[in-house]
Amino acid sequence: MKEILLIKLGEIVLKGLNRKNFEDTLLRTLRRRLAKIGSFQVKASQSTITVKPMDDDIDMDDAVLCVSRVFGIAAFARACKAEKDLEKIKEQAGEYLRETLEDAKTFKVESKRSDKKFPYTSPEISAEVGGYLLEKFPHLTVDVHDPDVIVTVEIRDFAAYIRAGLIRGAGGIPVGTGGKACVLISGGIDSPVAAYTMAKRGLELMAVHFASPPYTSERAEEKVVELLTRVAKYSGRMKMYTVPFTKIQEQIREKCNEDYFTIIMRRFMMEIAQRLAADKGAQALITGESLGQVASQTIGAIACTDAVCRMPVFRPLLGMDKEEIIEISRKIDTFEVSIQPFEDCCTVFTPKHPRTKPMLENVIAEENKIDSLPLIEEAVQNVKVRDIV
Ligand code: ATP
Ligand code: MG
Repeated sequence: MKEILLIKLGEIVLKGLNRKNFEDTLLRTLRRRLAKIGSFQVKASQSTITVKPMDDDIDMDDAVLCVSRVFGIAAFARACKAEKDLEKIKEQAGEYLRETLEDAKTFKVESKRSDKKFPYTSPEISAEVGGYLLEKFPHLTVDVHDPDVIVTVEIRDFAAYIRAGLIRGAGGIPVGTGGKACVLISGGIDSPVAAYTMAKRGLELMAVHFASPPYTSERAEEKVVELLTRVAKYSGRMKMYTVPFTKIQEQIREKCNEDYFTIIMRRFMMEIAQRLAADKGAQALITGESLGQVASQTIGAIACTDAVCRMPVFRPLLGMDKEEIIEISRKIDTFEVSIQPFEDCCTVFTPKHPRTKPMLENVIAEENKIDSLPLIEEAVQNVKVRDIV
């Protein structure tokens, strides 16, 4: 018996004018992601998307995992398709749900009939199927209030579907329907979580990483690639731009007051990132900053950083505690990679006494000791591009 997936489109977004765009993007995303597993037919009808495997050797557990990471899906279910014949529906329900029902003590049947020409009403279908299952699995009892298993029978235009329970989807909005943004990605815990969080709100991603060889190693960069590859399971493919940052950091160390190292470095990062972002059609920057976490993440420091930004900066973790961020990083499977000990360019030249309340004019005065523009242009020209899939 062939198992399929039934995907329920989110209610809220569907009501807006964006419905068509939302649905088309979601279908495209599902087709592209599922194609990595095997051949599937993905079709939308009556506010449900059906995913049908077209090869016999497809592992539906893989399909479930894949679909559970696609944004824009509130819930979905594994289901089996039956002919629209009450006897056949009963038999298939008993066969398809055998294991689930053998493990349960209580159950109830719910029916939905969108094809009103089907000769039984929803309560009649539920009663018939429920009666049949009680007879076939005599250890079961019906509990309409809090059953272990809810068996759902849907009578739709071209077929009937039988399922037990819904699987929670990734939520959010389909990637790409909200525009494109550029994440500043380090090898830490926070920035991959920030990237995931904004992709969930429908943003397509590009990523910029600053590397300072020989102070930072090839392995550190590979770690970032691995992190982004894991984020991409949710956000979809993206380009990663690695910016050579050594010269700039050396110039800062040589010419500027040490107390301002970090803040000046961050202003360079923002400037370079927004140039790359604008060039590739992204409209905002994303960082993993969390208010008060370190000296460069105070209000004053953020104000100095933002003073160079000409596009909005999204900081989705600003109000989160480290524990909350770690919880998400575990959920999206980036935590174990993030905690591998490789140096980041941020930690290469850390000042002993970073300013937590930097004055913008002092920062600018220090920064002006460097001939910035040629350095920025050189860095931008020498970025290395990679495909993250
Ligand atoms: P993370 O865990 O994301 O590294 P963090 O707590 O270590 O964050 P910082 O090192 O101060 O914080 O960096 C703040 C933000 O700056 C990061 O979340 C990231 O968005 C950006 N950032 C830091 N280092 C880099 C880098 N090497 N390349 C690109 N962006 C970076
Ligand atoms: Mg960091």
